[in-house]
Amino acid sequence: TTTVLLETMAGKGSEVGRSFEELRAILDRVQLTEKMGVCLDTCHIWDAGYNIAEDLDGVLTQFDKVIGLDKLYAVHLNDSMNPCGAHKDRHQKLGQGYIGLEALVRVINHPALKHLPFILETPNEDDGYAAEIALMRECAE
Ligand SMILES: [Zn+2]
Repeated sequence: TTTVLLETMAGKGSEVGRSFEELRAILDRVQLTEKMGVCLDTCHIWDAGYNIAEDLDGVLTQFDKVIGLDKLYAVHLNDSMNPCGAHKDRHQKLGQGYIGLEALVRVINHPALKHLPFILETPNEDDGYAAEIALMRECAE
């Protein structure tokens, strides 16, 4: 069985999917909605204006109300080169961007998220990915 995931977007240009409401509107128009889910990209929602550094619980509550946490299947774990709400979409290495290491560690350990697959899309070569994976494993509760 195949599940198609819509990804939260940063909202650069005319990009669709910049808010949880826009993703909901897409899901509402799909017939086989049980075959659809959502992938949450930490850089994208941050750039879209969801402040996961200051209020991760609030953002996830909003996600749950609008989309439903049961629809969340995966997380793209990235830091951001830009401040919250910048609508840019430039990924940064974990802990070297505006989201910051502490906030990203809270993401991987959050009870609503920790069971999900986390995928790195940081600007790295293999060595850099190995270091980030080791760091996240160290920080996982
Ligand atoms: Zn991106």
